[in-house]
Amino acid sequence: MDLKSTIREIQDFPKEGINFKDITTLLKDPLALKATIDAISENLKDKGIEIIAGPESRGFIVGVPVACQVGAGFVPVRKPGKLPAKVERYEYELEYGTDVLEIHHDAIKPGQKVAIVDDLLATGGTVLATARLIESLGGIVVSVQFLMELNFLNGREKLQGYEVQSLITYD
Ligand code: AMP
Repeated sequence: MDLKSTIREIQDFPKEGINFKDITTLLKDPLALKATIDAISENLKDKGIEIIAGPESRGFIVGVPVACQVGAGFVPVRKPGKLPAKVERYEYELEYGTDVLEIHHDAIKPGQKVAIVDDLLATGGTVLATARLIESLGGIVVSVQFLMELNFLNGREKLQGYEVQSLITYD
């Protein structure tokens, strides 16, 4: 199935110069939604994945059905102040300033095999922070799965050493 044709592109959102990839048009298409979840789950087959970790917020949408399909649990990685119990936090650099992500301190047991699932790989900062949080709890990042990848931002370089797979790429 041609998934790319179901993703809407919005020029200059949320700010000028960004070509925003809007997956709401994919999500409302039953065949495209199923093909997406099936394809990511297929990439994770036979890897012994116990936990899917998804960064806020589109990582939740894609990550939960994948977790169900591969027989794993789901762990949310969230912006600061959203998770109610004790958290680990990771601060990372943006182009201007810094950002923070958090995970519950007991979300992952040492040695558990984890896959990260998110909608889009841009600079790679979000997913690298997610990987560091998982590793700070003793989890093993076995695979990183994206629906889309923006090749020209070289996020893959930041994720060297991890298995990285994307269903759709943009040059
Ligand atoms: P990054 O940390 O730079 O890899 O990007 C983090 C998140 O920003 C991605 O998971 C997307 O949810 C969002 N994002 C970045 N660029 C775009 C874009 N062009 N279209 C849609 N979402 C984007």
